[in-house]
Amino acid sequence: MPQLIDGKAFAASLRERLADSVRTLKEIHGVTPGLAVVLVGEDPASQVYVRNKGKQTVEAGMASFEHRLDASTSQAELLALIDRLNADDAVNGILVQLPLPRQIDEAAVINAIDPAKDVDGFHLTNVGRLATGGDGLVPCTPLGCLMLLQDHLGDLSGAKAVVVGRSNIVGKPMASLLLANHCTVTIAHSRTRDLAGECRAADILVAAVGRPRMIPGDWIKSGATVIDVGINRVTGEDGKNRLVGDVDFDSAAAVAGAITPVPGGVGPMTIACLLRNTVEATCRQKGIDPGAILPG
Ligand code: NDP
Repeated sequence: MPQLIDGKAFAASLRERLADSVRTLKEIHGVTPGLAVVLVGEDPASQVYVRNKGKQTVEAGMASFEHRLDASTSQAELLALIDRLNADDAVNGILVQLPLPRQIDEAAVINAIDPAKDVDGFHLTNVGRLATGGDGLVPCTPLGCLMLLQDHLGDLSGAKAVVVGRSNIVGKPMASLLLANHCTVTIAHSRTRDLAGECRAADILVAAVGRPRMIPGDWIKSGATVIDVGINRVTGEDGKNRLVGDVDFDSAAAVAGAITPVPGGVGPMTIACLLRNTVEATCRQKGIDPGAILPG
């Protein structure tokens, strides 16, 4: 059996260490990090995410500000709220829950957030900093994947990494992070000619596709480290709904050296990294070295 990469346990330990960082910020610097989460509309999945984010923010000792807006909110109204949050000193991080209703241009909203408070790391300035090796805020899910990889493998230098998926929120930033950590990186997508062959060459395989169990065990190199970002809801033979990843866990586990389960792998890391980014953003806004505050 491969080693199971337990993201749930890692995320719990990261949240505890972040709570210590928040305590230090309060006691030594008199600063309480604050995260504002904006939800537009009543999408049930988004409501669950926003509730969990608020709960874990408070548990880490930070201030949580929730803004719930009607589904009919105009772009101008949302941009006016973003302006107020940008100017509010108690707010160090701003997250606008996606997707937004159709009348609102997501890119315009994301790029209206002060890049210093863009804890999702989606603002063009932060995308550019990640691409050019600057100090910016990094998207939470790929950052969580990187932390799990570093915890499991240590130095990633020279590893051949294949990222399946090229979205702006997972695939592309994941590839940038792996490149920054000296991997040799391939990004595969729906037009890739020999996807199986590309995957078989990977020492590190990151799957971020959104197709249940698409990657079988015989696409995986023996001993590879497999990070499954996919979260897909399927109905089992028993008629019950369950979550599965983009990797066929059972056949992959027979060949991989280590693998993340779904659920309990990458998923819990996303909010933990959001809290981490909020602490980092707070430090930078207050002129405090994040390296002295954030967990190692
Ligand atoms: P997107 O739909 O934005 O992107 C999917 C990517 O997969 C695209 O680049 C697409 O290629 C590629 N793709 C689709 N079909 C194939 C195929 N047959 N072969 C190869 N590549 C293919 O998805 P996201 O990046 O937003 O999310 C990916 C998965 O990760 C989803 O299951 C999502 O639920 C999950 N997720 C999990 C998170 C977590 O917290 N754990 C957070 C965010 C996402 P092309 O560009 O050519 O269309």
